[in-house]
Amino acid sequence: MHKDSKIYVAGHRGMVGSAIVRKLQSEGFSNIITRTSKELDLRSQFAVDNFFQEERPAYVFLAAAKVGGIQANNTYRAEFLYDNLMIEANIIHSAYKYEVEKLMFLGSSCIYPKLAPQPLKEEYLLTGPLEPTNEPYAIAKIAGVKLCEAYRDQYGCNFISVMPTNLYGYNDNYDLSNSHVLPALIRKFHEAKEAGAPAVTVWGTGSPRREFLFADDLAQACLYLMAHYNERELVNIGTGEDITIKELALLVKEVVGFEGDLEFDTSKPDGTPRKLMDVSKLHRAGFKHSTSLSEGIALAYADFKNKFVEV
Ligand code: GDP
Repeated sequence: MHKDSKIYVAGHRGMVGSAIVRKLQSEGFSNIITRTSKELDLRSQFAVDNFFQEERPAYVFLAAAKVGGIQANNTYRAEFLYDNLMIEANIIHSAYKYEVEKLMFLGSSCIYPKLAPQPLKEEYLLTGPLEPTNEPYAIAKIAGVKLCEAYRDQYGCNFISVMPTNLYGYNDNYDLSNSHVLPALIRKFHEAKEAGAPAVTVWGTGSPRREFLFADDLAQACLYLMAHYNERELVNIGTGEDITIKELALLVKEVVGFEGDLEFDTSKPDGTPRKLMDVSKLHRAGFKHSTSLSEGIALAYADFKNKFVEV
């Protein structure tokens, strides 16, 4: 990738895409192209084809997706499957057709089987049934991985796939009904502190284990792999460290400065019991994350207050 290469970041308004754009800008890349979903509906084959024909990007970061937490995934099952399949199929096919030099597809750790051994190695893909709450999203993301492999196999395209773990950071979604656990907890603890509430309700039992990566660290990893990784096999991107949801809640509580108690609402689903990436391949490729979970939560909390709290 040269500093003046034409780079298309799909999904630039999301947490991941915006982090990739910021990182590209800070590293001096000057020819970044983006489109909002209003300007370009990525589910439309016609629109995406036209866009690639006109713009002819040399590099593509495919960070556009319909995403959400456990409840959103489970409720909007058709949308999670349809929207994501269409977005990926349209972009990947156009990238082949209009001769993109290299494309990076961003998947998710939920593509791995629910009961796969932990930590999750890349080779566990398609070795068992998926977690039912996010099966539609996972199936779409698996299809994206397979598209990259198939276009490489049949046409020799340099399309690579990376699988980020659970992410958080700037521009996260704080809507309690469809966000992921970390932003949800930041908001819940903040609001409870402001209201002087006695307790915060955490969904599920608190015992599932999750790994969390700061989105700016993911962006750094994406730029690194775009520059250095050209293999067919997918690469996990995570920290290699996990904690229980209860431990996470206690950490967020401390960062926010809430003094009350935790309550667990076990009518809400726990989801998969553990989701920890094996990141040895990433580390072998030469990349390691740099932001600790407590530092990252403090940065995300500052961003949340900046955007959503009136002073
Ligand atoms: P997952 O990693 O796909 O299961 O998605 P989430 O980030 O939405 O949820 C992770 C875990 O956190 C699950 O066990 C949830 O039940 C739990 N959790 C606890 N409190 C909350 C909350 O307020 N919102 C969400 N989304 N999850 C929560």
